Amino acid sequence: MAWRCSAEAAAPPRGAPGFSFSAAAGPLPDEVGAEVAAACRPGRTSILSLPFTSPAFRHLQEETEACLRRLLGIPDRFRVLFLAGGASAQFALLPLNLLGTAGHASYVDSGCWSRRAIAEARRYAEVSIAARAFAAVPDVAEWQVDPRAAYCHITSNETADGLQFRDFPALAVPLVADMTSDLLTRPLDFTRLSLVYAGTQKTIGTPGLTVVIADERLLGRARPETPCVMDYAAQAAADSRLCTPPVFPIFVAHCMLHWIAAQGGVPAMAEAARRRSDAVYAALAEGEGTYAIAVDPAHRSHINPCFRLASEAQTPPFLQAAEAAGLHDLRGHPEVGGVRVSLYNGVADEAVDALLDFLRAFARERSGLCTA
Ligand code: PMP
Repeated sequence: MAWRCSAEAAAPPRGAPGFSFSAAAGPLPDEVGAEVAAACRPGRTSILSLPFTSPAFRHLQEETEACLRRLLGIPDRFRVLFLAGGASAQFALLPLNLLGTAGHASYVDSGCWSRRAIAEARRYAEVSIAARAFAAVPDVAEWQVDPRAAYCHITSNETADGLQFRDFPALAVPLVADMTSDLLTRPLDFTRLSLVYAGTQKTIGTPGLTVVIADERLLGRARPETPCVMDYAAQAAADSRLCTPPVFPIFVAHCMLHWIAAQGGVPAMAEAARRRSDAVYAALAEGEGTYAIAVDPAHRSHINPCFRLASEAQTPPFLQAAEAAGLHDLRGHPEVGGVRVSLYNGVADEAVDALLDFLRAFARERSGLCTA
């Protein structure tokens, strides 16, 4: 039995054959999964009951932060916060923490997730749209960032739409990036970024933890009604232990970060993401007529390639055939439709190889049907 709960019948057992390409959560590499499983064994030292007040947890948190700093080259003046609440909570916490006396914020509208961030920010700030980036990200010279804005927000990888910002522009106002689906898959430029945040469930571990990396010069301007445990400066002063931090996801992130370091760090993750996404896009291009991609080649995501079948009616048979071939969780985001491949850090190369074979075989079969 995989686990005991009422959803058991509906949920595929863990370890079921095949591969998941889920966008919602990335798989853990086998070594990391084994390390985590061993640490969960019941007993006095189980990670599941490690008190956050213990020296062992403080050591774990310090090591996790140190590894993250090494991997991303985070400058000393940036504070690293380990928070709960998911990346979506940050959609509200950014304006609450960063607006200060400014009432204005600028956002780039690039798809599904940026629009959620914008909708939430509009509850607290006057939001202007600096640019609209759908099939491509416009040149920064064309952006209209409000000079009164306390910050400008981008979603560096639009998980649902398959669009990725290639670089981080130099702006006159602080640049804030939601990197929930591409943190630790690419190098960062902290001369241009003032704040980065990410839920860890996709590229760095398991749900329940949100990492906020913030230039300390932005801290200390939270609106008075900001909940204390959601005040960046208060959490920074308390080393993210103002309330019980998400101990288990921090442990998983610790294992994942060390695994990333052992693979060659962020350059190795970036290289793998590029190589694997290039291979997926090449297979889709070979199947032109069967597959269509809306995003311009220059801004296609290295992490979440999204595509459509020639007609929407072909999507269910495609997904069924993929499931039958052991390729799971390829359905596009409900607001977007189509098909979405997620190539997070923990996805195995053999999963990508199996997907490439399937994409080619499906297109061959379709073109055979069309010409017959
Ligand atoms: N931002 C992006 C880019 C995402 O992909 C997601 C989740 N798919 C979120 C924010 C929301 O994350 P959470 O569910 O942790 O709130």
